[in-house]
Amino acid sequence: MIKQNNKYPLTWKKDNFSIKIFCSIPNIATGILLKTRSSHFIIDPGDGILRDLNKEIGTQNILEISDIFISHGHHDHIGGVWSLLTYLRVMNKKSPLSIYFPKGCVEIGSIYNAFKKVYSKTISYEIILQEIGHTKAFKRKSVLIKPFPVIHKEYLHDIDKTRQVPALGYTFTYQGKKICYGGDTAYCKELVLNAKKSHLAILEAGHADETPNEMHMTLAEAKSIGETAKEYFLVHVPE
Ligand SMILES: [Zn+2]
Ligand SMILES: [Zn+2]
Repeated sequence: MIKQNNKYPLTWKKDNFSIKIFCSIPNIATGILLKTRSSHFIIDPGDGILRDLNKEIGTQNILEISDIFISHGHHDHIGGVWSLLTYLRVMNKKSPLSIYFPKGCVEIGSIYNAFKKVYSKTISYEIILQEIGHTKAFKRKSVLIKPFPVIHKEYLHDIDKTRQVPALGYTFTYQGKKICYGGDTAYCKELVLNAKKSHLAILEAGHADETPNEMHMTLAEAKSIGETAKEYFLVHVPE
């Protein structure tokens, strides 16, 4: 069952497990908050994430954020990382922060290195970079997280070619409810498998027309996967 289409924020809640998609607009920004009874996770902190988090959960809860999950390094998914890291330093965060990202995603390492260089010994909290080059499930704060590879390419204007971007989707399972987030992806079997029977599938339909390619899914492709989940959101639809 499709929930809503392209009207932000999108929210979904089952018992103590909820997700709020502040926005997901291709080439502009994504920002997602995942909540359980005792934790706040961020998924794809694009530009504007700090403003949205401040309004939604306030400073104290922002300071308690323990984990950030990155699907890939495109700016519309990580544009808010710098301001988030800096804000946490300014507000004197003490608990560690883990950042999960696909192996080979150089953007996160570069932002981290620049942040360390600029603020050197005045960073109040530990940042743990977790580069993911596997599909093994792991647990954080009672949430089972399973990364899976997806196919996402980008266009290089200068040589008129496309290239594969390191990209992951994730499933998050908590108290028997599973959310599947595909990130940016073309239609691929890993996404089909992981979205199937999930309680909520968040699927991008970022392709502007109905001719399939290897960058984004068409509306028809995204819907066909969404129909295999209990509920689904279509996101990243061009405006
Ligand atoms: Zn994107
Ligand atoms: Zn992308």
